[in-house]
Amino acid sequence: MNYNVFNLLWQGLSGHKGWQQAWRSPEPKPRYDAVIIGGGGHGLATAYYLAREYGMTNIALLEKGWLGGGNTGRNTTNVRSDYMFPESAAIYDMALRLYETLGKDLNYNIMLSQRGWLTLIEDQHQMEGARHKANWLQCNGVDGEIIGAAQVAQMMPGLQMKGRYPVRGAFLQKRGGTIRHDAVAWGYARAADRLGVDIIQNCEVQGFEQENGRITAINTSRGRIETDRVGVAVAGHSGVIAEKAGFRLPITSHCLQAMVSEPVRPFLDHVVISPGTGVYINQTQKGEMVMGGVLDLYHSYGQRGNFPTIEKVITSAVEMFPAFSQMRLMRHWAGIVDISPDSSPILGQTPVENMYINCGWGTGGFKAIPAGGYMLAHSIATGRPHELAAPFGLNRFRDNRLVDEGAAAGIAH
Ligand SMILES: Cc1cc2nc3c(=O)[nH]c(=O)nc-3n(C[C@H](O)[C@H](O)[C@H](O)COP(=O)(O)OP(=O)(O)OC[C@H]3O[C@@H](n4cnc5c(N)ncnc54)[C@H](O)[C@@H]3O)c2cc1C
Repeated sequence: MNYNVFNLLWQGLSGHKGWQQAWRSPEPKPRYDAVIIGGGGHGLATAYYLAREYGMTNIALLEKGWLGGGNTGRNTTNVRSDYMFPESAAIYDMALRLYETLGKDLNYNIMLSQRGWLTLIEDQHQMEGARHKANWLQCNGVDGEIIGAAQVAQMMPGLQMKGRYPVRGAFLQKRGGTIRHDAVAWGYARAADRLGVDIIQNCEVQGFEQENGRITAINTSRGRIETDRVGVAVAGHSGVIAEKAGFRLPITSHCLQAMVSEPVRPFLDHVVISPGTGVYINQTQKGEMVMGGVLDLYHSYGQRGNFPTIEKVITSAVEMFPAFSQMRLMRHWAGIVDISPDSSPILGQTPVENMYINCGWGTGGFKAIPAGGYMLAHSIATGRPHELAAPFGLNRFRDNRLVDEGAAAGIAH
């Protein structure tokens, strides 16, 4: 059933009894041409593009919990494409361009709000960095500009301009903003299901059977599944899956936290990040302030937050917007993010011949979902990396060809 105004009206008049289930809950089949592990945004996008672009429909997506229950449903929904290196800019801007038409493609409202992403400039060093970045972006054909302190004050009247980190201006990407995270997962799931993909929840991958360096079957909590090709998009659990397949990844898993305030009247029209404090804020359509900060540096699979982080984020947010001291905190949560040595993704072939991976997006992979899914689908379907994914192969760590976005772009999310 299409989601449109006529169906909405018809269902409204007939008591909303005719809506169909958005996707099926099939039993796993004994064999698929390809299996994707991980029902976050990257896995679901992979399933959709594999079916739509490459015509592979005898495929299954296995998720150990519920769709979007990992980082995809826990992130702060910020999107942008102002990465510095040409390799990164190409992939993140492809993602943003795909997001710009995704609602229409999926017939699902993903609530794209290109309200502008502002990285504050708080000292001379950051100003030079921002100029450098703006030049790089122009060379890469990506939008981004520097605005002065007066314009920042006008755009965000509640922002403290002369606090501990005096605001000298900001780097602005107007196409940056927010997207409803659940809608991305649900929209891809519904569209993939319509193309025939079996989406199987509560199905944990527990091990692999291999012959001559190839996976022949996957052992899951819901039985054994034979397959020719495997795609992995499990973010913070990438190392766990790699170990089960017999290899190691240069990935460390860390807890990243976020929180929301009670809803308040419209106050903040843009997404803003302060490099000095590491805190970033946006206001949801419901009025809550979504706030996040830096990741916990110790390695962990704990999907729980802690008080020091809450305290740091809140004190920094109040420093930026003193009016926030009046608000109450409503909820706080965490996800497990996958950090690579150069803060760039790992895409493509693994040491196992018919297994392909998409991981290492760390604190900033929500914005990359459409491109990440496309890249993994390409690898699964063709056995080769997409040209945009080629610089992000595992072999870059062996050949010392890092794409050090952590050093270049500084702050992720
Ligand atoms: C608090 C927080 C804030 C963030 N903010 C932003 C932001 O503003 N912007 C941005 O771009 N990015 C942000 N990120 C990062 C972003 O959320 C992730 O990079 C992205 O969602 C990763 O998507 P994914 O599909 O790869 O992984 P996930 O969404 O984590 O999905 C992986 C799935 O794999 C499943 N899985 C794991 N092991 C198995 C197994 N053995 N068998 C079957 N299934 C398995 C998990 O249950 C999970 O559902 C944030 C992350 C967090 C935690």
